Amino acid sequence: MEDGKCNGGATAVLPEIKFTKLFINGQFLDAASGKTFETIDPRNGEVIAKIAAGDKEDVDLAVNAARHAFDHGPWPRMTGFERARIINKYTDLIEQNIEELAALDSIDGGKLFHAGKMNDIPAAAGHFRYYAGAADKIHGETLRMTRPSMFGYTLKEPIGVVGHIIPWNFPSIMFAMKVAPALAAGCTMVVKPAEQTPLSALFYAHLSKEAGFPDGVINVVTGFGTTAGAAISSHMDIDKVSFTGSTDVGRKIMQAAAASNLKKVSLELGGKSPLLIFDDADVNKAAELALLGCFYNKGEICVASSRVFVQEGIYDKVVAKMVEKAKDWTVGDPFDSTSRQGPQVDKKQYEKILSYIEHGKNDGATLLTGGNAIGDKGYFIEPTIFADVTEDMKIYKEEIFGPVMSLMKFKTIEEGIKCANNTKYGLAAGIVSQNIDVINTVSRSIRAGVIWVNCYFAFDLDSPYGGYKMSGNCRESGMDALDSYLQVKSIAMPLHNSPWM
Ligand code: ADP
Repeated sequence: MEDGKCNGGATAVLPEIKFTKLFINGQFLDAASGKTFETIDPRNGEVIAKIAAGDKEDVDLAVNAARHAFDHGPWPRMTGFERARIINKYTDLIEQNIEELAALDSIDGGKLFHAGKMNDIPAAAGHFRYYAGAADKIHGETLRMTRPSMFGYTLKEPIGVVGHIIPWNFPSIMFAMKVAPALAAGCTMVVKPAEQTPLSALFYAHLSKEAGFPDGVINVVTGFGTTAGAAISSHMDIDKVSFTGSTDVGRKIMQAAAASNLKKVSLELGGKSPLLIFDDADVNKAAELALLGCFYNKGEICVASSRVFVQEGIYDKVVAKMVEKAKDWTVGDPFDSTSRQGPQVDKKQYEKILSYIEHGKNDGATLLTGGNAIGDKGYFIEPTIFADVTEDMKIYKEEIFGPVMSLMKFKTIEEGIKCANNTKYGLAAGIVSQNIDVINTVSRSIRAGVIWVNCYFAFDLDSPYGGYKMSGNCRESGMDALDSYLQVKSIAMPLHNSPWM
């Protein structure tokens, strides 16, 4: 790590970029084509490093390594207890490198350094620790066979070679959320980080070597979605692909899986999550929660509470409080500990968000605060709140993935539920109320995979996370995620020498 000066004036400890090549079969390698791509610092648009641009040939090499490690290597054959020992060592190494990993995600993705240090990297380590604890507790069942002369049981076996395709908004947590349960299950894998944020994944690859994973168990192929990503989703020798990203790309991955070897597909996709604030809510807390839910990680989070519905009795008060607080929401250098919001991940995302803001203005929504880019360097955008948003507007319907909130008023509980469900997505929802009847009714009526009551982003290692409707088809975290990297084998045999049919 070296001292450096950031855009915006904050002095930061910038990470030294040590790893830029593909990690295949325990070695750092150039791409077969020799090609590289530039990873960009969103604080200023400058090039951080040139990264190996993996393509089909490199994915083939990585899959061969993973296949060999699965079919012939020790990893799936070890006891869970032995796997846990290595995963725990890996976790120790991650914990020893928290600052460097957080700094890599900050410089690459514009993420707040202090949030990375306090949340993202410890949470990533937590996933490895949690699944290390689960690795030796993978059980089958003893079956109660209908024919008493038969004995039957199930075994849970690792699914095989997994392809993990990872997004750029939480590079470390996403890496851990996918890699940790797959490792505990005994799978081997090829990880493709997003082209915007490859740096931390390569550092995790380096640490995996130090931790002592056998070669070929974890491979990292950096590169683009349409090349390296597509080669993974259509590969004939990958048994499962786990993807987090946009709904459009999720659909392509499912199509590629269907057109190749019918590999299993786990999708965690977009969202347009509602936050419902009821009349009995504490105005100050509700406003704080709404801002956090929508602007955390600069709105680049699939569970962002981008549609906020406030009951009419406290609407005016909550709106006034939100606007007041949004004006104090500091946007700045992600290495500055006073910043609450860094730059958007890249120019494309920055321009996309600004174009949604223009749609909001042109479609007749009322701009209460924000609405502009900040500065002439880097990809900073003001936290933006629109009121009077109607269901036909683009900003109501589509996932923006930026710091843009749509604010609406509702009257009755039934109307609130109807509004919340008025979306093709179903990832998360928030409820702010002290009334247990309201909480119970609403939480059971919203079609979403995660409901947070009087809190938001209450992710937990043991709490399954995933979407209803077009937000996806899988659950990550908790024991459900481990199950998704296992398959069930039924074994039956006659008891004694009885005839078998
Ligand atoms: P966003 O639209 O938010 O940038 P994407 O869904 O495009 O997110 O990207 C998430 C991940 O999916 C990235 O690792 C990206 O490289 C990968 N990806 C993009 N397109 C494809 C594709 N056609 N096939 C496989 N992976 C892809």
